[in-house]
Amino acid sequence: MIVNSQPVHSNLNYFDQQQRRETFKKWVFKENQPCNADKMAEAGFIFTGSLRDPDSAACFFCNKHLDGWEAADDPWKEHLNHAKECDFAKMQVAQDNWTLAQWLDLHYKYQQIVIDKMYQEKRNAVTKMFNKLKRRADIY
Ligand SMILES: [Zn+2]
Repeated sequence: MIVNSQPVHSNLNYFDQQQRRETFKKWVFKENQPCNADKMAEAGFIFTGSLRDPDSAACFFCNKHLDGWEAADDPWKEHLNHAKECDFAKMQVAQDNWTLAQWLDLHYKYQQIVIDKMYQEKRNAVTKMFNKLKRRADIY
């Protein structure tokens, strides 16, 4: 299974299983196979594939990209095997069966991830601008 780190847009809608499911319109496996689109969405994945890479998916929560899926794969197991620190993968339960406490806890952690990501992007942009100004100031 090849893993890369292409970023997924931090789209809050992907916290919702149905929204994730809608990204799997062109999934490579059929509904009667274990690695079907419903199970992929349930296990936290969104479809990130293309014509050249038709079985690529990423976790909305931890951003882990995986491809090389096989029809018999269990998306929950694969998710946890390749992203042991992912709090979503650790659930191993469909969101319909979460307790309110689990839902709130996961939502809280996800908000932190999104805020951290926004902070990093802002920090990188400001650092880049600062370095540009510094180089300009060094000329004079
Ligand atoms: Zn994950």
